[in-house]
Amino acid sequence: MKKFLTLALCLVASTAVFAQTQVIAHRGFHATQNSVRNSLSALKHAQDLGAYGSECDINETKDGVLIVVHGPMHGEYRVQETDFATLRAKALENGEVLPTLDEYLEQAAKNTRTKLIIEIKDHNTPSRETRVVKNILAAVKKYKLVDDVEYIAFRQHVCDELVKYGPKGIKVAYLNGTLTPEYCKDLGYTGIDYNIGVMQKNPQWIKQCKDLGLIVNVWTVNDPEQIKWCIDQKVDYITTDNPLEVNRQLGK
Ligand code: MG
Repeated sequence: MKKFLTLALCLVASTAVFAQTQVIAHRGFHATQNSVRNSLSALKHAQDLGAYGSECDINETKDGVLIVVHGPMHGEYRVQETDFATLRAKALENGEVLPTLDEYLEQAAKNTRTKLIIEIKDHNTPSRETRVVKNILAAVKKYKLVDDVEYIAFRQHVCDELVKYGPKGIKVAYLNGTLTPEYCKDLGYTGIDYNIGVMQKNPQWIKQCKDLGLIVNVWTVNDPEQIKWCIDQKVDYITTDNPLEVNRQLGK
């Protein structure tokens, strides 16, 4: 009987853990300690905070290096049309070096409690996007982070290629807000990651996702009222520049 009770309690506790909304630090936890978006320090701060995830943006340079930068510009340079050396020579606003995907993965591997949420940016041709997808998947595998990375993209082609070339169980969420949950499910995606405005206009999608087994992520939720709305709706992930406020509202 005692065993049974313990088991039942464990089940209840684990359900509660899984049911709670998780925090994803948008471009890392950058709003702290002189950090900046998409920097290595922002990833470290998200890890130190114990965030569920740390989001970052990946672009390919003209000479084929995968870098962590939002783009399309880095200072005066178009990132996808500029060589890596030129981009690297220009520091981030706080003096940190512009990180490569490899450097980011190396840091991610130091604390896999925080997932790396990789946003793959649109590139100018489908074949380039396919190459970017394949190279990112290979890099993640090389760092043994296959189970510690989730993927998001605005471009349907990118999501489709992730599903096609990624390992079984890969997590892929579509960002653009234009597809129904059912459609995303049919395409093999594992979730939607939609703008807060889109979600508030289509709150029925949250239940539809739950029924379909899809993960609901919402971006970029910084306003305390909107954070509360997301928590009340029991979305799975909140992507935010303000992880401290989300934690506060979650009682963490
Ligand atoms: Mg992003």
